[in-house]
Amino acid sequence: MPFPLPPGSTIGILGGGQLGRMLALAAARLGFDVAILTPEPGSPASRVAAHTVISAYDDPSALGELARLSDVVTFEFENVPAAAIERLAALGAQTAPNARSLATAQDRIAEKRFFEAEGVPTVAFAQIDSAADIGPALERLGAPALLKTRREGYDGKGQAWVESAADAETAFAAIGNAPAVLEAKCPFVREVSVIAARGRDGRVAAYPLSENRHENGILRRSIAPAQASDATAAQARAIVATVLEKLDYVGVIGVEMFELADGSLLVNEFAPRVHNSGHWTADACQVDQFEQHIRAVAGWPLGPTDMLAAAEMLNLLGEEALDPALAADPMARLWLYGKVGAAPGRKMGHVTRLKPLKSPSPNLCPLGRG
Ligand code: AMP
Repeated sequence: MPFPLPPGSTIGILGGGQLGRMLALAAARLGFDVAILTPEPGSPASRVAAHTVISAYDDPSALGELARLSDVVTFEFENVPAAAIERLAALGAQTAPNARSLATAQDRIAEKRFFEAEGVPTVAFAQIDSAADIGPALERLGAPALLKTRREGYDGKGQAWVESAADAETAFAAIGNAPAVLEAKCPFVREVSVIAARGRDGRVAAYPLSENRHENGILRRSIAPAQASDATAAQARAIVATVLEKLDYVGVIGVEMFELADGSLLVNEFAPRVHNSGHWTADACQVDQFEQHIRAVAGWPLGPTDMLAAAEMLNLLGEEALDPALAADPMARLWLYGKVGAAPGRKMGHVTRLKPLKSPSPNLCPLGRG
């Protein structure tokens, strides 16, 4: 086993977006280099990376080049083909998280069946292969229900509400007539997420819960710690530990959940990577989600997840990120992703505002076997 990797090793990352950029910055802090594979020239991550391979994710020679450059390969983007991870593994590369975790997260039906099999509570759902499946599913789930493409949906894209069976054809067309899942409407009072990591030694560390507010299907704000009861926080930790262990996962995961009026949680989905709702950890925690992921995949000990301050993260969309006055707020920590082209709604950066904590490290999940 090459683990723990010594400083000076190279971490390969599939994907060149802002998550890869923040992973690369964290890797540099620990003395690692990164190699990015991305189809996008001048990507946010490659601009802070030692090496970049520009290519499609499934190009065999590019994957060979990444394997040659890297001591371990990870990903920052969940729509990387799971076959790319399998190919890297076949080339003898060390990869984390594993291909099964990626493949499960990529297919909403596989993901929900995994939750069901492991006793993780999730919303009632039905598999939809054609518009004709929607009417019977709606009878079982109740109306309205949310139709989501099985694959490649993000930031609320590929989703349509179905009010009645008469909407079936229109809703199915609205999501591109693609294989889908129909979900019962969840009467949540709040959306929360838990960011956690599992190391190569099986240890699990979770961050305090954050509350997430969306606008137009895009995460706008994360507030940490969430005002959750101890029972809710304990359920979140138990859920994330189950998911990590059952997937034999190595690295950071983000699990999105709906909190119901009685404080109980239903899992919406998980992202097999560092997560936008955990960006606040970079300013408010002893070891943040990016460093934690690098530690995990490199086989290093996980770090403490204690919060040193309460935090509110605001995503900067489009031209909002172009205002240097953002840097004038003494309580605001500004992160800009170096993206060219501030299209409306595009995530260009974020700002984290810190406040004193009311109580020390609420909802803390100490390092331990989950
Ligand atoms: P997703 O792409 O699954 O993260 O969904 C995007 C957003 O749609 C979520 O953050 C929720 O605000 C909302 N949403 C997703 N699924 C449901 C559901 N089953 N019931 C109610 N709202 C939902």
